[in-house]
Amino acid sequence: MDMNSNLSAETQDNFEKKGWNTPEWIAKSKAVKERDGNKCRCCGTTTKILHAHHRCYITKNGVQNNPWEYPNELLITLCEDCHRNGHKVHGKVPVYHF
Ligand SMILES: [Zn+2]
Ligand SMILES: [Zn+2]
Repeated sequence: MDMNSNLSAETQDNFEKKGWNTPEWIAKSKAVKERDGNKCRCCGTTTKILHAHHRCYITKNGVQNNPWEYPNELLITLCEDCHRNGHKVHGKVPVYHF
């Protein structure tokens, strides 16, 4: 497993945008939000728009996994604001290459 990330910031963004409106991702993000009690795991809000955030990204043989092809443990429920801040503060999401 190689923790090195040589993906551009733009590619990183595409990870979460890719497949945003597919039934697979909608079902996956719903399951993650339900597991987390439909609240932000950072600030605890239940009233803001909630996102399922990837704690890391995975590529296999150089091909990015689809957003829903992750175990639920690698996803976390964050509100819009914490999600945006998290990406700003922590910068790049780690990418694991298999
Ligand atoms: Zn929050
Ligand atoms: Zn995210």
